Amino acid sequence: MAEPKNLQPDLSFVKGVMEAGGDTVNKCYQCATCSVVCPLSTPESPFPRKEMLWTQWGLADKVSGDVDVWLCHQCGDCTKYCPRDARPGDVLAAIRINAIKYYAWPRALADVFQKPGTVVGAVVAAMVLVMVVAALWSQYTGHDFPFPLNEHGKVEYHEFLSVIPIDGMVIPIVAFIVFAAYKGVVNFWKDISKGSGFPKSYSGTYPVPPMGILATQYVWPAILEILNHSRFQKCGQTAQRAQGHKLLLWSFIILFFVTNFVFIAEDLFHAALGIIPKVTPMPQWHPVKLLANVGAIMFIAGIFMIKSVRDQKSQEGVLKSAAPDWILIWLIFSVGATGLASEVLRLVNIKEIAYSVYVFHLGTVIVMFLSLPYSKFAHLIYRTTAYVFQRWSDDVKAGKAGFGLEKPVGSNH
Ligand code: SF4
Ligand code: SF4
Repeated sequence: MAEPKNLQPDLSFVKGVMEAGGDTVNKCYQCATCSVVCPLSTPESPFPRKEMLWTQWGLADKVSGDVDVWLCHQCGDCTKYCPRDARPGDVLAAIRINAIKYYAWPRALADVFQKPGTVVGAVVAAMVLVMVVAALWSQYTGHDFPFPLNEHGKVEYHEFLSVIPIDGMVIPIVAFIVFAAYKGVVNFWKDISKGSGFPKSYSGTYPVPPMGILATQYVWPAILEILNHSRFQKCGQTAQRAQGHKLLLWSFIILFFVTNFVFIAEDLFHAALGIIPKVTPMPQWHPVKLLANVGAIMFIAGIFMIKSVRDQKSQEGVLKSAAPDWILIWLIFSVGATGLASEVLRLVNIKEIAYSVYVFHLGTVIVMFLSLPYSKFAHLIYRTTAYVFQRWSDDVKAGKAGFGLEKPVGSNH
């Protein structure tokens, strides 16, 4: 007879979940009401009852390899109906905070984005970096530092930092973020494949659909679903949160387009290739400038909506907010508010305040982007991966897709 297996609870994982807002987890007595009322759970793979049990038992491996954790939108329906006030919606949110830390590379950076004090420290450090780069740039260009004016005596941020030093700071940061996110996704995919009982491929790695199929049949439909927030809108108690999230997401897309337009037109076609005249600063009526302003307004409106619904739902007891929730909200708000303030201050030409706010703006932008794989922002990465995996896994289970694990021709193994 096989020896019974001893479970080794990971108590540091339980402590981490409890500290991140899941302190009610031990109240759960497994009645499964939560899994029944959850509008996003499926009969084939119900949640969040099993996640409550696995967390009580300290099964960190099981929980980190559980794709369902990422299919929850913290709508709070389960929390409202839980007879033990175990707040399963908040426990799953706390598990996600810990999962982001678990997959973070390097892990120490994730700790920075868990506490308001260290995030403020990161913004100050980014502002110092901006000032140092601007000072060096002024030595090179001969512009005044720190309050340069253009030939018309006006504030112009490009006199302070033009595209070359900004790209010099941003491109390495973006490359670092992409690499960190890639590492996190690869490890997450490995764990959820293992958690779903998928076999390893011939080379010892977990299978991934062929790139073309992955992109067209799984990634693209998952992105469309996220853009539409269709799953989020099924939530009962906090469905209004979806509107703010949607507005914010679309504002990011608009601002991403505008930033890339400027990058390609100014940096590539003007500065590098010299085939078009300078495009910045743009006049207020320029379509790209108008689009940027619309994006900025949507950005701020979205964050206000998210904050007000979160405040209201917290007061009603439907959801609880942890420090990482507020850190991201305030960080995004700071980026939007300082961006708009920089533009207004440039127009009214108060150089001391304009440049100070502009440096603050660049500091918050750098920290917001750097936070992508480490803060609650990482939901964008892991939730999208979970949606993709769920679609593929459903097709595999329905026999519509395979693992592609055939032995290579000529192999002796
Ligand atoms: S979290 Fe609440 S509703 Fe869900 S199984 Fe536990 S006690 Fe029941
Ligand atoms: S918070 Fe909402 S989506 Fe998440 S488990 Fe509870 S009912 Fe389901």
